[in-house]
Amino acid sequence: MSALTAFNLQRWIEEHRHLLKPPVGNAMVWNSNFMVMVVGGPNQRSDYHVNPGEELFYQVEGDIVLKIIEDSCGALLYDAEFHLVDLGKQLKPIIEKFRDSPELRTCKSCHAVYQV
Ligand SMILES: [Zn+2]
Repeated sequence: MSALTAFNLQRWIEEHRHLLKPPVGNAMVWNSNFMVMVVGGPNQRSDYHVNPGEELFYQVEGDIVLKIIEDSCGALLYDAEFHLVDLGKQLKPIIEKFRDSPELRTCKSCHAVYQV
């Protein structure tokens, strides 16, 4: 979508439902200075991301549990920085690489291992 125009969101969800599966679980409807994502739900991801722009997430099904980091040494565990072009293709290998690597999931500061 190149311009912000009215469209049938329910039809878009039906046409893209196959993309709303784990491990990514969401697909991008709009990507400009303002991102719009649809999440299939229920979403089991536990990663965090940093985006300098505004975002809107719409979850189709299930409850949302939004956790914040409270008990941490404050060190950055893993950082995969990339320019987002195709969420479905780019994010899945990053999630799998992190999930499958105990080394990447181990804090270099306090040696705690992030459980997936
Ligand atoms: Zn730590």
